[in-house]
Amino acid sequence: MESNNHEHQALAREIITACLPLSGNSIRIAISGAPGVGKSTIIESLGLHVIAEGRKPAILAIDPTSDITGGSILGDKTRMESLSKNEVAFIRPSPTSGTLGGVTKNTIESIILCEAAGYDTIFVETVGVGQSETFAQKLTDIFILLVAPGGGDELQGIKRGIVELADIIVVNKAEEDRKALSEASIKAYKNATHLATSKDSGWVVKVIPCSALNHNGIDELWKLTMDHANLISGNDHLKRKRKAQNIFWAKNSMQQKFNALLSSDKKLAELYNEILLQIENGHLSPDKAAPTLINNLSIKIIE
Ligand code: GDP
Repeated sequence: MESNNHEHQALAREIITACLPLSGNSIRIAISGAPGVGKSTIIESLGLHVIAEGRKPAILAIDPTSDITGGSILGDKTRMESLSKNEVAFIRPSPTSGTLGGVTKNTIESIILCEAAGYDTIFVETVGVGQSETFAQKLTDIFILLVAPGGGDELQGIKRGIVELADIIVVNKAEEDRKALSEASIKAYKNATHLATSKDSGWVVKVIPCSALNHNGIDELWKLTMDHANLISGNDHLKRKRKAQNIFWAKNSMQQKFNALLSSDKKLAELYNEILLQIENGHLSPDKAAPTLINNLSIKIIE
């Protein structure tokens, strides 16, 4: 699926077509947050929790050795150690480099494959680098944002837009010795989400404390996740969301295909390079690049 080889891609498309009717029966969960906030610790804790309930989790995780996550900061700590040893769980780490903070061009295909293979709880981990959150939110049913206890007012540099994507905000590392700090954070995030509390789905955003390390608050987090799942499957929002996920997938794959064609299709690549050359030589202004490409498409390509 991840290969760029043409034959592999053709096979991948066949496999996805065959898997599609078997997919869809899972909860798709995005887990996001800055490096070091505790994403892998909480996914490990949640993963083991859902396994105990008889579920099968699949985790599309971030490769800790990749640059954006600050693999070097965390050293060579093994992520999700118990979960990766558990036979029920499937973990697929993706490098963040060159992609959208863990959300790769194949994330949706990976979700489909996991569902067809019988995984019913899909975690998509993303690291706070901007666009990845929007991607992850569009590919999943629920968006869980992890933050660390802090003063709160500055919202720890997390972009407001990202906070507004969240269905549940988890203030992690909320242990006894950080009680005052985590309470302040909870208050600040409740204020920050005040205007966005009621989502299209009718869900009211929740802000809860948690200690992933001590497994405190994991029950509550999972209960809220299930409450959300029940709400959106009960009121048709899930159906709409899944349709939107498919549209997003289609749009993205068309754009990717077109981008790939720009360099691989001989005629298109010629046209593309010709336009760039004209701009470089001062014969064409950059704002004319796209219209020139489009105007010439029918002549050069569809002839
Ligand atoms: P990630 O980069 O967001 O995946 O963060 P990790 O899960 O790798 O955690 C980063 C560090 O924070 C590790 O040293 C964890 O042991 C620690 N950590 C994670 N969750 C908690 C928690 O609930 N409490 C405390 N005190 N430390 C935690």
